[in-house]
Amino acid sequence: MGAGPAGIYAADILDKSEAEVSVDLFERMPAPFGLIRYGVAPDHPRIKGIVTALHKVLDRPGIRLLGNIDYGTDIKLDDLREYYDAVIFATGAMSDRPLEIPGIDLPGSFGAADFVSWYDGHPDVPRTWPLEATSVAVLGVGNVALDVARILAKTADELLSTDIPPNVYEGLKASPVTDVHVFGRRGPAQAKFTPLELRELDHSPNVEVIVYPEDIEFDEGSMAAIRSSKQVDMVVKTLQEWAIRDQGDRPKRLHLHFFHSPTEILGEDRVTGLRTERTELTGDGNVRGTGEFHDWDVQAVYRAVGYLSSPLTEVPFDHGTGTVPNKGGRVLDMDENQVPGVYVTGWIKRGPVGLIGHTKGDAAETIANLLADADSLARPKHDDPDAILAFLTERGVPFTTWEGWGKLDAHERSLGEPQGRERVKVVERDEMVRVSRR
Ligand SMILES: Cc1cc2nc3c(=O)[nH]c(=O)nc-3n(C[C@H](O)[C@H](O)[C@H](O)COP(=O)(O)OP(=O)(O)OC[C@H]3O[C@@H](n4cnc5c(N)ncnc54)[C@H](O)[C@@H]3O)c2cc1C
Repeated sequence: MGAGPAGIYAADILDKSEAEVSVDLFERMPAPFGLIRYGVAPDHPRIKGIVTALHKVLDRPGIRLLGNIDYGTDIKLDDLREYYDAVIFATGAMSDRPLEIPGIDLPGSFGAADFVSWYDGHPDVPRTWPLEATSVAVLGVGNVALDVARILAKTADELLSTDIPPNVYEGLKASPVTDVHVFGRRGPAQAKFTPLELRELDHSPNVEVIVYPEDIEFDEGSMAAIRSSKQVDMVVKTLQEWAIRDQGDRPKRLHLHFFHSPTEILGEDRVTGLRTERTELTGDGNVRGTGEFHDWDVQAVYRAVGYLSSPLTEVPFDHGTGTVPNKGGRVLDMDENQVPGVYVTGWIKRGPVGLIGHTKGDAAETIANLLADADSLARPKHDDPDAILAFLTERGVPFTTWEGWGKLDAHERSLGEPQGRERVKVVERDEMVRVSRR
């Protein structure tokens, strides 16, 4: 269930295993690839290489894609048990982790996941986005925060070579933003960005990246982090270099601030500012508040403090961790007993952290355990592979297929071709389904 990278890697490993097996990949969207299509930023073309590999997996005869099917609405676990020996949930994460500070619900305060869904052309979010602010705050120092900050700061024309749909281009083009401020609660050695993402920020001819010398601070804990991780070392070196360089005159500015903990979003009936408290290192890489507050003149705040998975109908869910309880991918009930024939992989298994490549290791573990359980799995009532298609048709579910994705893929490419772009995404779900089922 779920045709993001985790589901596709699981299908791949199962298909290549010794077991005689066929795999149906159910997907809520009419298109496959999960957050690669609806999360990864449009100006990250190198990720396309991964899609090519995943495409080859879905092209294999032992694997079927059944799209536009929402687990929980169109089909449930009891239904699936009638057709399959085992069900693997790979439903990832789609929404924003909450941030409990005063003012978070004011108009002008947004979750990064919602904004990402908008600029990546997700069909289930509104077509317009209120880009009215000249100064914007982004809370968080992970890769998603950088994506959001970069997309806000770049000009729409810089993104025109990507697959962004027309409504997103128009929206970004009208944005008056000049300054984007990214805030981290801790210091440069505690930032979560990857070095490549960080350096890429500086590539836009329209965006000046600014780091403040007073934010370059390290304690024993920070030094230990730098020594033990090449990645942290590279991030810190880049930030140090940027903190001492002369500022250029590119028209927009992207400020990276450290040691500022957001305490309140300011405003009466909409966002008019952000209050942060200056923090200081405590020796072990953690920070404490100094009691010194700063008010920032911003008209919009985006929180990029993590994604959150949604609970699944008829499947146990741990609301604390936002994951399905499991041991090595075997789903456990509240008494920690294994739920027979039910497995998880990817972000829903271990939480919304890590890159696409990490979901491969998840899948390997889950599939090894599933195969070890194979002899004990209950046999389904139906073993004709067409029976599930008849079930879906009878239910009136307008499902899409791998062949259908081929048609939509070709259609999107044809939309891009006259402008010399690889593709232009179709946003409307009805249109996606219509083209796929043509
Ligand atoms: C904004 C952002 C940018 C990122 N950029 C990068 C990057 O540049 N490079 C990189 O390596 N990693 C990046 N990542 C991380 C990467 O996207 C994840 O590691 C990966 O997508 C997790 O895979 P997954 O299959 O577990 O989840 P997902 O990719 O979320 O896939 C889950 C799939 O399940 C489907 N689904 C969910 N619920 C249901 C349901 N009820 N019924 C049916 N189907 C359902 C979803 O539609 C989706 O297709 C980024 C993540 C985010 C959020």
